[in-house]
Amino acid sequence: MGTELVTPGHPPPLDTLIVMGIAVGVLRAHPAASIEVKKQGFSYRITIDIDGQVTWDRVYEALSERMLFEVERLSYGWGNLYSAFGPQRGIKPKDLSGRFEELVELARKEFPKIAQEYSEQSQHAAREGRGGKKLPTAYLSIAPWAGKYFAGTYKYQKKPYALCPLCSFLAWSGILSSSSVITYVAEGKRGTIYAVPDPIRVRDYDLALLALVFSEKKGERRFRNDIPLLAAPLLILASGETVWPIGGEYGLYVWKYEGAGNFLGIKGFAQLSLSPLLEFVARAKARGKYLPRLIGYLASRKGDPSLIALITECLAYGEPDPYTVVRSIWSLLSRAEDERGRRVLRWLDKGVAEELFEVWKKYWEGHRAGGTPSSATTVAGTGSWT
Ligand SMILES: [Zn+2]
Repeated sequence: MGTELVTPGHPPPLDTLIVMGIAVGVLRAHPAASIEVKKQGFSYRITIDIDGQVTWDRVYEALSERMLFEVERLSYGWGNLYSAFGPQRGIKPKDLSGRFEELVELARKEFPKIAQEYSEQSQHAAREGRGGKKLPTAYLSIAPWAGKYFAGTYKYQKKPYALCPLCSFLAWSGILSSSSVITYVAEGKRGTIYAVPDPIRVRDYDLALLALVFSEKKGERRFRNDIPLLAAPLLILASGETVWPIGGEYGLYVWKYEGAGNFLGIKGFAQLSLSPLLEFVARAKARGKYLPRLIGYLASRKGDPSLIALITECLAYGEPDPYTVVRSIWSLLSRAEDERGRRVLRWLDKGVAEELFEVWKKYWEGHRAGGTPSSATTVAGTGSWT
């Protein structure tokens, strides 16, 4: 008999972070466990098979150890929790790390009840959300729909989203264990882009790999350019050493917070398929060594990061077609070559161009292209989405 949990069904990507937090915690506490995650609407069903019972204390210990390590670094104003907190100003790292310490303690009490709280019948989420009473305001920069980061740091008209310590702790564990965070600064703007894999139907080792691909790319990704939302996936994937083949069915959520002047808010949210992106990166890297250089150049101030977003759109939504994408990149690189006599054109090597075409063909030829998803329309004007 396995143990079965069902996440509460908060709007995305909150339950996605929660389920990744649970999966990674269980695999750390019980490395021999067999886990399957299946998405159902906004919720995820997690089935865990091990010899004996899941020791939830050990799962909590594994996750809290990681979080307390980051809480310590946060108190000095650096580390992964710090960069995950996004572009808001006026945060005192000491105060913030105190709040997280409290959260870890509050979650300790709730954790033993996880199997009851996260069950199909529990109506757990009904006590949360905007109508939530007597719960702490969500410790958020993790939920685009919530419209609020953190109690007390800036004024916001909307009613704060209340979240229980268990959900909040697990969601932050998901950020730490399974997400990538990119930060950028450009002409009076500062922003943070988050990416987390969405396990639609994934098992065991593949869950761990999915978490690893994204979590190893954190903290060090800072750009001095205006980075469009959809440039983020390739900035994350192209920089790693290896891309493994990952089994199962999964997608990707990306979202962006941006501050400009006194305005701070969500500038974009998108759900996209991850398989064509992973496949393109793996194949292009197997053919040649220039993909990371190309992506890095396009993201730089001399380049044009909206062209990286164009590659993502081509692979994940089918439009524009690869000819248009390659032509646009070629034209930018040719101009750079003329001006400075540098040999930047070779970074768009034959392997990159051919694999873009091959992967696009595999996923999109003969299909009606998906076009711009309605969920991502708020990014118009920040990238190539016009
Ligand atoms: Zn909760």
